[in-house]
Amino acid sequence: MPDSTTSVYLKSYILGDALRAEHFELSETALRPLADAEVLLETVCLSVDPYLRGCMTGMANYYVPQLDLRAPIHSLGVARVLDSRLPGYAAGELVLGSIDWSARSILSAQAISQRPVGRRTLRRLALTAQEHPSRYLGVLGITGITAFFGIVGTAKPRPGETMVVSAAAGAVGSVAGQIAKILGARVIGLTSSPEKRSVIVERLGFDAAVDYRSATLPQDLLELVPGGPDIYFDNVGGAVSQAVMSTMRHPARVVECGQISSYDDQDGGWMVDIRPIHRHGLRFEGFTPSLFSEFEPAALAQLEHWLGTGQIIALETVHHGLESLPAAMLGLFRGGNIGKTVVSLDQPATD
Ligand code: NAP
Repeated sequence: MPDSTTSVYLKSYILGDALRAEHFELSETALRPLADAEVLLETVCLSVDPYLRGCMTGMANYYVPQLDLRAPIHSLGVARVLDSRLPGYAAGELVLGSIDWSARSILSAQAISQRPVGRRTLRRLALTAQEHPSRYLGVLGITGITAFFGIVGTAKPRPGETMVVSAAAGAVGSVAGQIAKILGARVIGLTSSPEKRSVIVERLGFDAAVDYRSATLPQDLLELVPGGPDIYFDNVGGAVSQAVMSTMRHPARVVECGQISSYDDQDGGWMVDIRPIHRHGLRFEGFTPSLFSEFEPAALAQLEHWLGTGQIIALETVHHGLESLPAAMLGLFRGGNIGKTVVSLDQPATD
């Protein structure tokens, strides 16, 4: 059994400042022998998500628990069981759950029970040779079910309605837009670059794409939707969302999924100016997939079907190696990704 491993730690909490590479530290630690009711895991791939920024503020009573600075960062991931003294897990199996940002890690039964992802803890993943483990981090993971419940359970677009989605080329936005298209809506995506705008229109079939950095964003939208959009699926918040909400028809609804443009703010972000909500009589509704957890198996089955039939295309930005995790995380805040951000450790470390 290997006697050491490399892990990624957060060095200090960061509030009111942008995340930078120096906020992370790679460190080598000893791996002790397995005790009873523990598994030794070798990480295969890790999900990199904006909510992790919220776990790095150090704010008590924030909307997500804060990371323990003495332990590796952890997120949804796929790992291979190298050794097991925990009934239910056998060497060689792939598992999906909350995995340390480490090449190898030991998880006890207690740690596993304290790290649920959605309604499940660490679970075995039976994959065929054609299946990509990273799909279980993206369309078939939290990303996919967030998009699913955000659209099917919350936005509920009707055929002919127009939906604007922000961060449209990102993990959740790209899937949310495709689901709204399947349900018959007209979809306009907001994203930063010409390449991303081309991907969402040409590859994903969105009806139009708009540069949210345009000085004339409200007019640009109203040219495409003269009466204003019926639905705004908001992944970014801030000035962009204020501008979109100022264009909406009445009645119309805003589905608040995330506020990524505000996560570096001094107060931890999430502030919304409700004047356009008042003026336009908008319905403003937040959600998380946990509100729909009883329907999660059905949602995953539907997403798997849409992936299989090609009605949903899974976009991914894959970084390689544990040392790329900080850059992958920073990339979310700089528009560095198209689709789901994944770090693959497909060349297992030799330590
Ligand atoms: P993502 O969209 O794949 O990545 C973030 C993207 O946001 C970037 O690629 C960038 O795209 C855009 N962005 C970053 N900073 C921005 C800014 N200041 N202004 C405008 N756009 C900016 O990430 P994701 O995992 O799919 O998450 C998207 C949103 O959903 C986040 O707000 C996240 O917190 C939220 N979320 C919510 C739930 C929930 O339970 N409600 C679950 C998962 C995620 P551009 O190149 O277009 O700028």
